[in-house]
This record gives sequence, structure tokens and C-alpha cells, in this order.
Amino acid sequence: MTQRDFLIVGGGVVGMAVAYGLARAGLSVTVLDESDDALRASRGNAGLVWVQGKGLGMPRYAELSLEAAKAWADFARELTERTGIDLEYEQRGGVDLCLDAEEAHSRQQEYTTLQNASSFLTQEFRWEYLDREALMPYLPGLGEAVHGGTWSPHDGQCNPLYLLRALYAASHSLGVDTHPASPVERLEATASGFRATTPRGHFEADRVILAAGLGARTLAPMLGLSDAVHPVRGQVLVTERRPPGARLPTPQIRQTASGGYLIGDTHEDAGLDKGVTLAMMQSLAVKAVRIYPDLAEARLVRSWGALRVMTPDGNPLYEASTTHPGAYNINCHSGITLAAFHAGGLSDAIRDDRVAQSFPQFSGARFHVPAT
Ligand SMILES: Cc1cc2nc3c(=O)[nH]c(=O)nc-3n(C[C@H](O)[C@H](O)[C@H](O)COP(=O)(O)OP(=O)(O)OC[C@H]3O[C@@H](n4cnc5c(N)ncnc54)[C@H](O)[C@@H]3O)c2cc1C
Repeated sequence: MTQRDFLIVGGGVVGMAVAYGLARAGLSVTVLDESDDALRASRGNAGLVWVQGKGLGMPRYAELSLEAAKAWADFARELTERTGIDLEYEQRGGVDLCLDAEEAHSRQQEYTTLQNASSFLTQEFRWEYLDREALMPYLPGLGEAVHGGTWSPHDGQCNPLYLLRALYAASHSLGVDTHPASPVERLEATASGFRATTPRGHFEADRVILAAGLGARTLAPMLGLSDAVHPVRGQVLVTERRPPGARLPTPQIRQTASGGYLIGDTHEDAGLDKGVTLAMMQSLAVKAVRIYPDLAEARLVRSWGALRVMTPDGNPLYEASTTHPGAYNINCHSGITLAAFHAGGLSDAIRDDRVAQSFPQFSGARFHVPAT
């Protein structure tokens, strides 16, 4: 068998977006993934394609999020054309709610600072603070407990499971071979590239990309890459289907295309426990009813927990190994939003081996500064 151009470790939305981007550029790609019991943020997230709040301490991340959001409509259309899968993507704008005046004040200060951080953001990042009354046309039936919120036209939503399914289907159609239930135990350089060892045998390629989410904690050091990611649990609650409405999505709650409300923006340190807790479910339900009082009537039908893949500063990790040229580490906590960029500009940078030059801010070196 001829050696492949790329081996990707991790078949979540990040690994598959990059696999798709590389295969679309004509490169041969093999993807190795774990089993169904793996920790997989890509199967438990909220499906927001979201710009607000991104890059508050790193404007370049805000720029990438905005570029990704702008590319998303074409990206979704292209995947649908290739696969026939409707991603349920829509970009009607979104609102990040503020429950009190203090939150409203600090949010506006943060966004103003961000907007002034680069000429691109000054020109392109559009947002507005709206009080509760002004939000009503966007969020009909909004509860009195809500103070207001920031509205932005860039925000949207999709069905993240359909996104993942489409990425697999499109990648397969371009010749990507994917191997589930193939946990990588060891990664090493060979005379002609890299080798991954799994219980199902060895896989080799010219170059290797680690897109293993929390799996980077054990695999990254094998290739001189950063292991600085940790889990942050999010719990999600879903209501029965409700009549479709005009309400824009918010990070706190959104109505899905099938009618159910998806509630949840918890951020918890729970180690590797991806379960749900009654206390958190109760607090999510209370918050949902404060936002939309009519949901007091809604039956709850489903809940789950999932682990975010978080770096110490919350910004993505895009790095090329200096000790193992040809090895890359790609990790982020906003893989749905950034999917269009991962399949586009980031894949191009990996293909051309210019990740370090194009995205120096995102190297893992920022977390491994030797003490003086
Ligand atoms: C509750 C919640 C809500 C979220 N909401 C949003 C949102 O609205 N919008 C947004 O943009 N993002 C959201 N996210 C974040 C988003 O889900 C993640 O950024 C994204 O899924 C990360 O994808 P990934 O492929 O890096 O990680 P994962 O989905 O975790 O995939 C990593 C893959 O690597 C594999 N792997 C690990 N170790 C190995 C190994 N040794 N060998 C082989 N394979 C291995 C695993 O099997 C897994 O499939 C949310 C996350 C959570 C938890």
C-alpha cells in the first residue's frame, strides 16, 4: 500500500474538517478514531456558529471566528451539494443575554475594546447592545428577569450531528479512509514520515495531525507538541418539540430546527466525568423559564453532559512541532464555529507547512514559557 500524505488522529469535527479540507485539495488522508465510548465534544455540543465573546484576550481569534462565520454559508452549501445532508444551518443573527446591569456594562466594555483592537474588527465586527424591550422583536416572549443582551448579525446555528455526518460523507467521497475503534497508543517518527500504533496494527504517512481533543494530553508529548488542554463539562437539557418561532439563538438557549429547545451553557470542572447532575439540571430549567416564561409548560425529554476541550487561555492551539517537523497539533473549544476555517485556511496552511508562520499566536509555546 502506498504511504498516505496525512494521518489524522481524531475523528471529531476538528479532525474531519481538516481531513475534508486536505482531501479536497487532492491529498490522501487516513483518519484514526477511538470507539463510541470515547470523550467526544463533537457529539455533545450546542451547535452554535458563534462569534460573540470569542477572542476577548486575543483579537486574532476573534478575527478567525468572524472569518469562519462569514464562510459558513458557502461551506454548508458545499457540504450539502456533495452529500445531500442538510446541516440545518441558519444565520439570522444571535443574542447573548445579560441578566443584570453589571453584566450588560462589562459586556459592552469588552466588545468595545475588542472592536478597537484591529482595523479588521473595527470594520467588520458588528454588534449592538439592546435592552429588553428592544430585544422583543428578536426574542418574543422574553421574560422580565432579562436585562438586555448583545445582538450580532454574525451569529447562527446548525445541527452539529449533521455537520459531522456530512464531513464524514464528503471526506469518504474524496477518498479519505476512516478507521473507528482504532485508538492510537503510540506516535513516532520514521525514516519517511510518521507511524501510529493501534491495537489493529500500524498506520504510516508522510505527515501527522493530532486532532484528538482531550487525547492530546497523552499523545502530544510524543511528538514535541503541547498537551495543555483540560476538560470543562457542559450540561444540556432539551424540551419536547414546541411550535417553531422567530426567536434568535442565544448561548443560553436556542430552538432547534425540529422544535425542541436546547438549554445549557454550564462550565464545570468535573474532571473526566461527562454525566449530568440534578442540581445543574434544575438550575438550567429555572434559567430557561426566567428567559422564556412560556417554557414552564414544556416537558423535558433529554439531557446529557459533554466535555469541552479547553486550553488555559481558551484560545485555539494550532502548532507545528519543532522537534518533529511534519507533525501538527490542532485543538480548540469552538470546533463547530471554526469548521469552515479548519476546512479552508487552516488546511491550506497545513498543506503548505506554514502553520507556525501563519498562526504564530496559537502555538502551544505560549503555555510552556520557562520560569526566569
Ligand atoms: C456542552 C458543549 C457545548 C458546546 N457548544 C459549542 C457550540 O455551540 N459551538 C461551537 O463551535 N463549539 C461548541 N462546543 C465545542 C465543540 O464541541 C468542540 O470544539 C469540538 O467538538 C472539538 O472537536 P474535536 O474534534 O477537537 O474533539 P472531539 O469531538 O472530542 O474529538 C476528538 C476525537 O479524538 C479521538 N481520540 C482521542 N484520543 C485518541 C487516540 N488516542 N486515538 C485515536 N483517536 C483518539 C476521540 O475518539 C474523538 O473522536 C461545545 C462543547 C460542549 C462540550
